[in-house]
Amino acid sequence: MLLEVKNLSVYYYTLAGVVRGAENVSFSIKEGEWTTFVGESGSGKSTVAHAVINLVPSPGRIVSGEVIFNGKNLLAMKPEELRKIRGKEISMVFQDPMTSLDPLRKVGDQIIEAMRVHGVEEDEARERAKELLEKVNLPEDRLDYYPHQLSGGQRQRISIAIAMAFNPKLLIADEPTTALDVIVQDSIMDLIDDMKAAGTSIYFVTHDISLAAERSDKIAVMYAGKLVEFGTVDQIMDNPLHPYTRALVESVPDLWSEKAVRAIPGYPPDLRNPPAGCRFHPRCPVFREKGYLKGRCDRVEPGMIEYEKGHFVACHLYGGAPDE
Ligand code: SF4
Repeated sequence: MLLEVKNLSVYYYTLAGVVRGAENVSFSIKEGEWTTFVGESGSGKSTVAHAVINLVPSPGRIVSGEVIFNGKNLLAMKPEELRKIRGKEISMVFQDPMTSLDPLRKVGDQIIEAMRVHGVEEDEARERAKELLEKVNLPEDRLDYYPHQLSGGQRQRISIAIAMAFNPKLLIADEPTTALDVIVQDSIMDLIDDMKAAGTSIYFVTHDISLAAERSDKIAVMYAGKLVEFGTVDQIMDNPLHPYTRALVESVPDLWSEKAVRAIPGYPPDLRNPPAGCRFHPRCPVFREKGYLKGRCDRVEPGMIEYEKGHFVACHLYGGAPDE
């Protein structure tokens, strides 16, 4: 197993209270596998992605858990050990490339420096920077451009070029296409696919389950800081178990169907004070319809169970509650 996350919890200590951004999240990613995390904004999918490489922004803090990468717990490593892994064995691409690119330096210098940090000689780094630009379909002269002289899609290509520099074992891509139009989005997805073909495992984050279904091997569904379902793309898209996943799948527009797209009613909870029991219960149509779930869904938190091989769900419908 390349990555194993066990009982990871991240809290944000804000002036308004403690926000439970992610709680007891556990999952694993195999070598060469593309796993996509989906969920609404504030579901904790980006929080977990940042926690995996111990880069949770302040006022966030990892309060418990383990992140085992290639047999070593990243959360127990010294900062200098972790720096050697970041950018070389694990790369990251963010939604806004300007958060990782320095606006005052030419992009070529930034690609070269990303390699120099890991001991590559200047001349070799310069040559590799040209090759990387070719790989991401940008002309060589872009090395002399500043980030503001490039379009959003070109800046994202530069971020991916930097991420590709060492052919990492894992790429964490946090909503890398959200701000881009559909054509550019597709070309960025193709580049990430190229990385996968070269052997990199992909940890992808998006709010768009249809995008997840197109390229991933596995899908992880998050709601209100909790992982609620995990399985292969076929398991999740053809047989979604959790009522929230079902709602997400039903919210995907189908060009060939006249069926109306169903939005998910209600709002995600305030994570300073999440609902007792299942965090989805105030919005869950099944809970509202099935009287026998009262006193259970709204009081007892559902644990994750393996419903079928490799298909996990946290919902009382599949463990402990009477059959429908
Ligand atoms: Fe709905 Fe209950 Fe399942 Fe939560 S545990 S999703 S409230 S049925």
